[in-house]
Amino acid sequence: MKRRDFIKKAGISGVAVTGVAAPAIVHAKTSLKWKMVTTWPKNFPVLGTGANQLASLITDMTDRRIKVKVYGAGELVPAFEVFDAVSRGTAEMGHGAAYYWKGKIEEAQFFSTVPFGMNAQEMTAWLYHGGGMKLWEETYAPFGVLPAAAGNSTVQMAGWFNKEINNVNDLKGLKMRIPGLGGEVLKRAGGTPVNLPGGELFTSLKTGAIDATEWVGPYNDLAFGLYKAAKYYYYPGWHEPGTTLEAIINKKAFDTLDKDLQIIVRNACKMVNQEMSTEYTAKNNAALDTLVNKHKVDVRKLPDDVLTKLKSLSNDVVTELAGKNAAAKKIYKSYDKFRKQVAAWHEISEKIYYNIR
Ligand code: CA
Repeated sequence: MKRRDFIKKAGISGVAVTGVAAPAIVHAKTSLKWKMVTTWPKNFPVLGTGANQLASLITDMTDRRIKVKVYGAGELVPAFEVFDAVSRGTAEMGHGAAYYWKGKIEEAQFFSTVPFGMNAQEMTAWLYHGGGMKLWEETYAPFGVLPAAAGNSTVQMAGWFNKEINNVNDLKGLKMRIPGLGGEVLKRAGGTPVNLPGGELFTSLKTGAIDATEWVGPYNDLAFGLYKAAKYYYYPGWHEPGTTLEAIINKKAFDTLDKDLQIIVRNACKMVNQEMSTEYTAKNNAALDTLVNKHKVDVRKLPDDVLTKLKSLSNDVVTELAGKNAAAKKIYKSYDKFRKQVAAWHEISEKIYYNIR
């Protein structure tokens, strides 16, 4: 119920409830109960706990006028049905990543990450200040879904390998769990990409069913014990250089909210977007230290010629994605223009500083 309606029906107005001037704003204490479905296992470190944090922030900042309850993958709907559930209104909110919906909206992938694309800082800048958010909203509008950036993995690791990668020929025949556009790139390099859920990675690697797997970064990878199943830990995560995670909101549910609640919901997403990136930065560096110094993991950089080859193939794959339809073309144009400009700036700012400090 809208606040105005509640006030009317309850027979109260902004003044004279008790004969003295009442506060100008009277919040209806009726609580909306929102469901948030997620693509993550319940309480999964950072990704799932970040979704929990978003729910708590909305609940607390609205003084429980919106109470958000989180459902892990499979609790209310399976992981890959989160978008449809929010679109239908089965759940008012969801938390996941845009590249999961590529089967439905191929161009959505630009709003999560693309190989050799922008990093977390650059993606957030494009979305908030470079026109990306408007394009994202347009992309989801036909489905009655409102997107918001709500987290970022930061640069991931290339993954765990049981085969040494010394040159481009070592990618040939490599059976690796690597989903999405990165998988397509590996395929073009002669490898065999496979898609497996996180829970199957350890056993598949340990038994030799796959030669390699990517997952996230040191913190999540350490928790999965992947160092016990592979010889080498390669970097950098060329395929996911800063994956934006998303909160999606049923547009009708959002539109019926009072203005102040809408502002709170949007800003809670912004807070979590920032919070998850910083949490990854803090926890990844501590986990990397544990992997190297406690578990004696062999951490290696992918050879330059391998990265050069992957970059060239990625360019083909991303350009082809941009040619899929008019919307993809429009989004790519904005993304690519921003990417080039920000790269030129970061060349003489962030990058040079990283190299000299
Ligand atoms: Ca990954």
